[in-house]
Amino acid sequence: MRLLLATRNAHKLAEIRAMLPGVELVGTDAFPGVPDPEETGATFEANARIKAEAWRDATGLPALADDSGLEVEALGGEPGVRSARYAGAHGDTAANNAKLLRALAGVPEARRAARFVCALALAAPGRETRTLRGECRGRILPEARGGNGFGYDPLFAPEGHGRSFGELPEAVKAGLSHRARAFALAREAWGLG
Ligand code: IMP
Repeated sequence: MRLLLATRNAHKLAEIRAMLPGVELVGTDAFPGVPDPEETGATFEANARIKAEAWRDATGLPALADDSGLEVEALGGEPGVRSARYAGAHGDTAANNAKLLRALAGVPEARRAARFVCALALAAPGRETRTLRGECRGRILPEARGGNGFGYDPLFAPEGHGRSFGELPEAVKAGLSHRARAFALAREAWGLG
């Protein structure tokens, strides 16, 4: 099976290749000149669908896209689909994390529930687009801990662990993350890999 993976991120391409060993994943680099669509969706699923359908239409290949982020209960689901640009500039991790800690200042541990979400969309020519999501529940710590992972990882302790994703070994995160769960579902429900 040959699938276009709608990401410009080489790290993600490698990570997802490992999670779908039976699939030949083609990166977007194979199609220079195709512009990325704007991610204007209000949900992770909507954004994954926008990306998958745009790349299917541009290449004629079945396309797989993911969209992920962090939802914090006490903030009504923020930063949500704005996770990468919560503090303004896209991908400014230090500013995003500082803003999240400020937003939760004084909120006790029992009310710091959060979840990482990963939505996947599979868009194949002539077929209805399918979406699914994987989640990883946990809580936001009072301060950043550890240097592993990326993004909000140092602030997030998964359920059942006292340590953050920044402190836990990468292999632990790889076993229980929102992305791992979404791809396990995709293997099962969509027969990928
Ligand atoms: P994207 O799906 O690559 O666009 O990720 C959106 C944003 O969500 C990232 O820039 C991070 O801020 C956040 N995010 C998604 N997954 C993770 C994760 O596994 N750890 C930490 N932050 C994440």
